[in-house]
Amino acid sequence: YAKKKQGAAIQIFNNTLLSAFKDDAQIERDLHSAIRGRQFELYYQPLRDLQNDRYTGAEALIRWHHPKKGVLYPGAFIDIAEQSGLITAIGSWVLEAACRQLNLWQHHNLDISMHVNVSARQFFSGNLYEQVWQLLTRYRLKPKTLILEITETELMEDIRYATNLCQELAELGVGLAIDDFGTGYSSMRYLKQFPISKIKIDRSFISDLTISRESQEIVSAIIAMAKALNLSLTAEGVETPEQEAFLAANLCHQAQGFLYSPALREAEFSKFIGQDRLITVH
Ligand code: C2E
Ligand code: MG
Ligand code: MG
Ligand code: MG
Repeated sequence: YAKKKQGAAIQIFNNTLLSAFKDDAQIERDLHSAIRGRQFELYYQPLRDLQNDRYTGAEALIRWHHPKKGVLYPGAFIDIAEQSGLITAIGSWVLEAACRQLNLWQHHNLDISMHVNVSARQFFSGNLYEQVWQLLTRYRLKPKTLILEITETELMEDIRYATNLCQELAELGVGLAIDDFGTGYSSMRYLKQFPISKIKIDRSFISDLTISRESQEIVSAIIAMAKALNLSLTAEGVETPEQEAFLAANLCHQAQGFLYSPALREAEFSKFIGQDRLITVH
């Protein structure tokens, strides 16, 4: 009986695994036509300056309008795109679309910096520098208003290459942010070695901030470290006024999270920021 039961369990496991593979393969096939069919859209999540009480940045977050499945979040396809190599094409599209948008905002005198996620393959593709340089030129962007987000784990894949590329990008004047800080192979050494301009504290440290003494100590330490190294700092995943109060009291520069707004389509983002500007004038 036990053997039979075990066999059934394996069967179920295999079926689940098999259908997961099939789903992934389908997603990969669909991704090809997604690029050609303009099915991607960038949404923008506002970043709030806690010292000046205004929105000073946006993070571009990709959404996929899948013809059958509806709106897909990056969690459903970014890993597949990364494994299949399609991420370089998608990443190029993202960077271009974000820079085009940033140009429009600057045209309307919106003082907003654009944060763009860069994947490992895209970072190590060999033409990120060239692409960024071209986009800065084509869209006449102030370089420091473009901030590339990369994770610590990604940088660690090839430290020498990453050091050189970060150096070159920093010389162009664009910002470099460590995304999801504290979750990867954190090494204090690279904070000195890479010309980083910003750290984004991972959401996991913020979610239990007001109930966990440990998270409070960790966040305070990261804030102190950022200050000592002259890095700007964003707290990700701020959802409650209590979390915001803790961060503001501890002089964290910037916050991002559902407390303020999720990522919005461009028209709604502009409206959101515009209203904020009207309010601050009063
Ligand atoms: P991320 O770079 O850490 O982006 C922040 C994620 O946290 C976003 O999820 C955002 O919607 C979510 N978030 C923001 N505030 C809150 C909050 O208060 N609570 C909670 N629970 N979540 C919050 P999203 O859009 O699903 O993106 C997930 C990840 O996918 C991103 O994490 C990023 O690593 C990746 N990603 C998104 N867009 C792109 C892209 O254009 N290119 C690449 N390579 N990766 C992307
Ligand atoms: Mg990010
Ligand atoms: Mg990211
Ligand atoms: Mg993050």
